[in-house]
Amino acid sequence: MTLFGIDNLPYGVFSAAGGSRRLGVRLGNAVIDLEGLGGLFAAPSLNPLLAAGRAQWTQARAAVIEHVRSGPPEIPLDEVTLHLPFEVADYTDFYSSEQHATNVSRILRPDSPGLPPQWRHLPIGYHGRSSTVVVSGTPIARPSGQLAEGVFGPSRRLDVEAEVGFVVGVPGRLIRTASFADHVFGVVLVNDWSARDIQAWEYRPLGPFLAKSFATSVSPWVLPLEALATIPAVPQDPRPLDHLLPAGPGFDIRLAVDWNETRVSHPPYASMYWTAAQQLAHLTSNGADVRTGDLYASGTVSGPARDQAGSFLELTWNGNEPVKLADGSTRGFLEDGDHIRISGTALGAGGGEIGLGEVVGTVVA
Ligand code: CA
Repeated sequence: MTLFGIDNLPYGVFSAAGGSRRLGVRLGNAVIDLEGLGGLFAAPSLNPLLAAGRAQWTQARAAVIEHVRSGPPEIPLDEVTLHLPFEVADYTDFYSSEQHATNVSRILRPDSPGLPPQWRHLPIGYHGRSSTVVVSGTPIARPSGQLAEGVFGPSRRLDVEAEVGFVVGVPGRLIRTASFADHVFGVVLVNDWSARDIQAWEYRPLGPFLAKSFATSVSPWVLPLEALATIPAVPQDPRPLDHLLPAGPGFDIRLAVDWNETRVSHPPYASMYWTAAQQLAHLTSNGADVRTGDLYASGTVSGPARDQAGSFLELTWNGNEPVKLADGSTRGFLEDGDHIRISGTALGAGGGEIGLGEVVGTVVA
């Protein structure tokens, strides 16, 4: 049973044997080349397809399914290089897991009341840096920065954040939640690498800056929304303002985090408080527009149990409760040479389980 059957078919950009970049879909452990289908498929990135809009996306998917059914050549995954699948326009990151926001408050601000007062009224977010969004497999250089007053050096508290990213296809502003699927093409996995010591020293009052802008990794496969089942969103109290209603769909996406090949966490995206539709509506509610290739991420996904934490800040409770890895070593935060894999599966539109693939990265000095 493959997680990449005909009910999935995520899009990516690949090259083989030093050749040019081409669009493909993943089938099992192989890539199907789409170049021969011409039109929007004959491009070195997904951007032309992203810009084409919902009707064309549906048509494209039908054409791809027909092509795959015709038994085209399969190129084994280990014979190709996977690239960043689209040109990232702007990158925005949210903070929409109630458990994550509560944990971070408890860890970093133990004398504060918990969730920030506005947290249940709007999806909190910040604008990130698109130039450092990299494809899975890209080595992550440990960032240096101001760690405290008078101290500049390599971060000692380098962390991960397991998130789900949403890829915008059709530009727009003042986007209603009900129009989510007319603008958003699909989803990727995201690791929003974070330097907690840089963050703690710099973030008040304007939020994350250099603690997160050095690298954000994304999975090479973009899962079209059509492949995903929708589920009811998490109930919200108080009732959101009108421009954030209806809430839009939830998605049953299950993440897993492996630290040097030891499975340490299973963050459940289905538990997110704010939906992707509400995030997009909020992001454009002041008249700001989104563009083709915009990426916005859910925020760290953390469930209520310790082994559902989407960051090591939470998993090790700020390094105070280290985790033991399979090789017998213990960890609070990332060490040089550490390898992180965030993988994901989801309930597919056809009722079965489908794969989102993985986003991996190794920390280098
Ligand atoms: Ca984040």
